[in-house]
Amino acid sequence: MSIGGLLAKLAEMQAKGPSVQCERCQLYYLEKQHDECPHCTHLSDKELYYFLVEQEQNREGSKKIGYGFALAAILTAVLMFFIS
Ligand SMILES: [Zn+2]
Repeated sequence: MSIGGLLAKLAEMQAKGPSVQCERCQLYYLEKQHDECPHCTHLSDKELYYFLVEQEQNREGSKKIGYGFALAAILTAVLMFFIS
């Protein structure tokens, strides 16, 4: 990817607008794309509880993997920067 492509990507990300945090499920969503939280508006309180428990378990489980992916992503970005 060229630097121009990278800038276009950045502009695209900015055009999507700021993300807001849902007060109910604490997840983030794009204000421009959704009037209501896409994660929990369709869930009842009970369903939301299970959803949040699942989220928490996923977070714990994928923490280590997440760090690995983040590192790989950074390395890829740096590599692409030098190759382009
Ligand atoms: Zn929500």
